[in-house]
Amino acid sequence: MKVLVINCGSSSLKYQLFDMTDESVLAKGLVERIGLPGSILIHRPGEGKVEIEAEIENHDKAIAMVLDALTDKNHGVVQSLDEIGACGHRVVHGGEAFSSSVAISPAVLEAIQANVELAPLHNPANIMGIEACTKLMPGTPQCAVFDTAFHQTMPAEAYIYALPYEYYEKYRIRRYGFHGTSHYYVSQRAYALLQNPQAKVITCHLGNGASVAAVNAGRSVDTSMGMTPLEGLVMGTRSGDLDPALIEFLMNKEQQSVSEVNDTLNKKSGVLGISGVSSDFRDIETAAGEGNERARLALDLFAHVVKKYIGAYTATMDGVDAIVFTAGLGENSASMRKQVCDGLRFLGILLDEEKNALRGTEIEITKPESKTKVFVIPTNEELVIARDTANLAV
Ligand code: ADP
Repeated sequence: MKVLVINCGSSSLKYQLFDMTDESVLAKGLVERIGLPGSILIHRPGEGKVEIEAEIENHDKAIAMVLDALTDKNHGVVQSLDEIGACGHRVVHGGEAFSSSVAISPAVLEAIQANVELAPLHNPANIMGIEACTKLMPGTPQCAVFDTAFHQTMPAEAYIYALPYEYYEKYRIRRYGFHGTSHYYVSQRAYALLQNPQAKVITCHLGNGASVAAVNAGRSVDTSMGMTPLEGLVMGTRSGDLDPALIEFLMNKEQQSVSEVNDTLNKKSGVLGISGVSSDFRDIETAAGEGNERARLALDLFAHVVKKYIGAYTATMDGVDAIVFTAGLGENSASMRKQVCDGLRFLGILLDEEKNALRGTEIEITKPESKTKVFVIPTNEELVIARDTANLAV
């Protein structure tokens, strides 16, 4: 079966077409600047790439262009859309309604809609992608794979906030966690490498958005992101954990509204806010190397918080067998991995510097005698979506 994976953002759309007989990627690409001037489709059919600039006013048009590109007689990879057996959609917030992937029905779409208030920036775009595909490919099964689903196994003491309990009952305020598809994929790979399905694993998804998860015997038991992706680690532009009292303080000092402060916490904070250089860790590492002290501070603070979570999850799981680094920074920054691991000697971690310097492969970066193993595992959320979709669509 061929499966089309769609990941819709508010103004962008990423896609991959898988051939599930061997899980190969036949084509992939992205549409950028949907609804904005300068919109473009970048299509990669195996080798090479095709760029199509056009007015792409909405997600319907974006999906229509993707389907045209996939079936085009020059750069297409299928003869007709009938060859595509199912579509898998990434959906950010499944709330408490979804603890696994599902085939989309009107009732499922309604439940995703009901979670819009929990993820106002993400779920509407995901819904637009689902509706566009349903319209353009009637009769093709559509499935949803949720960022939150893997974390639904967390025990109540990990997901309840210490607020009046009725807020949980009335408004569903609780920790949900995100990046679940990634934490699931890399933890499963770690279990395969460890050959121990009972292991305690801490997965560090360190990208522009960043989160850590505690995975015990294959189940997520805690994670750093909360009701929204703002909580937890310091991120590219998000503050992560802070004292909630400072929101009122900042509102008074800066004469800002709640939403202005919220905007600062989401878009102007994190390593961007600290360094004043960039939200991209490559720029910050370069600046720190050139002696920029605030860039150095941003990296030190980031490593400090990652270590703090690893320590906390080691305590709550009563041990850890393996730590996994994944996503843009986790997969590529040997220096950040070293900075985090050097501070974890109490776990008996012995880093193999040569292996840590390698890039782009799934690898154990600790020495054989290291008490806790550390892996770099490139994440593959699209493959999880394609697999779940293929399983649901048969
Ligand atoms: P997201 O999907 O959340 O946008 P990614 O997982 O793609 O994020 O990670 C993007 C981040 O990874 C970039 O902001 C950059 O800081 C970091 N990154 C990518 N490559 C490198 C590298 N070679 N060295 C350091 N950081 C890197």
